[in-house]
Amino acid sequence: MKKPAITVVGSLNMDLVTLTDRFPEQGETVLGKEFFTVPGGKGANQAVAASRLGAEVKLVGRIGNDPFGEVLKETMEKNGVFLTDVKPVTDVASGVATIILSESDNRIIVTPGANNFVTKEYVESYKEVILSSDMVLLQMEIPLATIIYVVELCHANNVPVILNPAPAQKLDEGIWHKVTYLTPNETEKEVLFGNNLNQALREKLIITEGKRGATYFKSDKSYRIKGFPVQPVDTTGAGDTFNGALAVAFAEGQDLKKAVTFANAAAAISVLKRGAQGGMPNRPELDHFLN
Ligand code: ADP
Repeated sequence: MKKPAITVVGSLNMDLVTLTDRFPEQGETVLGKEFFTVPGGKGANQAVAASRLGAEVKLVGRIGNDPFGEVLKETMEKNGVFLTDVKPVTDVASGVATIILSESDNRIIVTPGANNFVTKEYVESYKEVILSSDMVLLQMEIPLATIIYVVELCHANNVPVILNPAPAQKLDEGIWHKVTYLTPNETEKEVLFGNNLNQALREKLIITEGKRGATYFKSDKSYRIKGFPVQPVDTTGAGDTFNGALAVAFAEGQDLKKAVTFANAAAAISVLKRGAQGGMPNRPELDHFLN
């Protein structure tokens, strides 16, 4: 079977993670327990998830001319993701997420850096790549003007688009309508739409609901596909795995119910290991889990 072609237009970040017993007060210094760096960014994570599940994945994204950028690029290559950017942005740092984790809480600062240079003009030069895809996957860690451009381009050319509206930012209602599927989690759904959902928009929604699974709508009915019962180790990136897997399922022509089940399963497996990309399953693992 020909591999489905998926294009992700999105972010790459290096996650800088510090584990601590407690957060410092203003002006205070505390000793951390552990520090590590892990490649992340919603664009990169979803690209890796889709590639592991057997798609041919291209990531239209940008890195800075710095060591983090090199590592991010290598990670994409190792995972079989073709990263379009060959000339890193100079004088701008790669995207980073500074993450402080304690037992009970986390605090995160995301600095987009090179991700801000995934401009409409930059993405326009990859128009042919986008239009030759079976499925396009977007998140909201790049400039909104770029997201609007890609949605309109795909809509005008009948290329299906999944928009994972995270972090949640409002767009003109007309743009939401041009997307094939919208995949907010429950919080994002509330922030973006509250109870103001007309039927046409509702039918585009696939709402992820953590361990409870995910819900979609057809005519005036809602359908929840239950999550798979697992003992999670780290749920970071569950939503990213869900979205990458969903794109693969749709690109393969699976129907809505099967696709959501497939995505639930991939995400359930992903929470069994630490790190967003660390636990993402490959295709044989997922097929085995589903059978
Ligand atoms: P996000 O990570 O974006 O906040 P969710 O928490 O809704 O998104 O999780 C995305 C998907 O990951 C869910 O729809 C579900 O399929 C799966 N998932 C998340 N947490 C668990 C869990 N504890 N057990 C099983 N599946 C999970």
